[in-house]
Amino acid sequence: MTHEAQNTFEADLIVIGGGPGGYVAAIRAAQLGAKVYLIEKEKLGGVCTNRGCIPSKALLRNVQMFSPLLGCFEDLLSFNISAAMERKTAIVETLVKGIETLLKRNRVNVIYGSGRIIAPNTVTVELNGGQRIDVKGRNIIIATGSTPTIPLIPGIDGPKVITTDQALDLLHVPENVLIIGGGAIGLEFSFIFKGMGSRQIVLIEMMPNILPSEDEEVTSQMKLFMQNKGMTVLTNARALRISDGKDQKKIVVVSTIEGEKEFHVDTILVATGRTPNSYGLGLEKIGVETIHNRVPVNTRMQTSAPGVFAVGDVASRFMLAHVAMAEGVVAAENAVGLSNAIDYLSIPKCVYTDPELAFVGFSEKDAREQFGNVNVGRFPLFASGRAVTIGETTGIIKIVSDGISGRILGVHMMAPYASELIHECALAIKLKATINDLASTVHAHPTLAEAVREAALDTKGEAIHILRHKHE
Ligand code: FAD
Repeated sequence: MTHEAQNTFEADLIVIGGGPGGYVAAIRAAQLGAKVYLIEKEKLGGVCTNRGCIPSKALLRNVQMFSPLLGCFEDLLSFNISAAMERKTAIVETLVKGIETLLKRNRVNVIYGSGRIIAPNTVTVELNGGQRIDVKGRNIIIATGSTPTIPLIPGIDGPKVITTDQALDLLHVPENVLIIGGGAIGLEFSFIFKGMGSRQIVLIEMMPNILPSEDEEVTSQMKLFMQNKGMTVLTNARALRISDGKDQKKIVVVSTIEGEKEFHVDTILVATGRTPNSYGLGLEKIGVETIHNRVPVNTRMQTSAPGVFAVGDVASRFMLAHVAMAEGVVAAENAVGLSNAIDYLSIPKCVYTDPELAFVGFSEKDAREQFGNVNVGRFPLFASGRAVTIGETTGIIKIVSDGISGRILGVHMMAPYASELIHECALAIKLKATINDLASTVHAHPTLAEAVREAALDTKGEAIHILRHKHE
């Protein structure tokens, strides 16, 4: 009798978790000839495809369809939330099926169930049907992702307090919303609610800036933009307690620099970050260390136990899908005997507001601290011909470079399609390109990308389409 007939399967690599970290690792290892078992307890694609990147962008697209009308239509359109949700669900289902097909074509064995490590090289899986099987593998990749973090605020466990999981399945547009957390997710949902027609949006962030680790000049422009759009954005603000008010409203008491404020809202969205899913995986059994639930790894994605790798939200310092995918490739290659290491320097970070935000490399503040002598070039979007033609002139491109070598250290932008524009800058940083390299590369006209080149030219006081920038 073979092992497989006894419900014990043999693999070169076991991947626990079928999100972007896990399924990409599985495909890469299979491409390299490994026999791979991928264990997923819910749906392939993970948070990214089912409850994160994809459904949120599908909803954003629905609401953004209103904004480019440019006064050319006479009828006022109204928002149909059930149609928007149906479209979102159809997109998610299509992409999940696509991942299923890719895994099948790459001969990855997918097991639907919950995986737990019971001994070195052995994972037991409680199948979704109730039975149990064991998989033995030479290497294991942990890619179990994360779940929303709920802060300890009195009243937060009551009704009408939701996370993004529920926000992506809303049946009604709430009239008044308070969002706790001014990170990427809080910002994106501010725009989703605004676009869906919520009348009052209050975003609170306890740090002095929204997106606190990103370039302050750009994030403060976004804060101002949101305020001009009628949203309330409070920084240095903390939710103190939540209680029930009149007319089925929730009351949120917020401490601000001007004292305590009270907001009466229909819905509270908690967007205060995510906790790595490392609990209950049996990591302690094989000596895999965790720190505050995160599995620490080196640049080869190795954990503290030999043959065990971790990727994505459970391990990474960047909780982003493309980072999980990149780490998945690195872990898979190392697991099958190649050698690879992750490089975080040129990771782009995008926020799908309207206009979008995108960041890569060092913020101006961090660059000044680390390199001392830095130059900054800027180009405002109102001076871009393409931005004028599409009617979206709010924003800025900002390039931070080394004052001596001219090497590009960071690029920060608020612009339409910033999530596309940023990749030229990520490549520039990866290739250690200089301001001169970017400035001497002819960009097509009329494009938004011209603004990137103009920002590089501005560093030298040579931008053509704005008046000469006076440098300190
Ligand atoms: P996950 O996607 O969380 O996948 C982990 C998988 O492991 C899950 O499917 C889970 O069911 C499975 N699993 C867990 N434990 C077990 C077990 N014991 N056995 C078997 N299976 C298990 N990132 C971006 O880059 N861009 C965006 O625009 C973006 N938007 C987002 C919007 C929202 C609303 C949210 C919540 C997140 C967003 N993210 C975005 C973050 C992104 O979704 C995550 O960084 C990404 O999904 C992490 O991938 P992962 O593979 O590490 O984990």
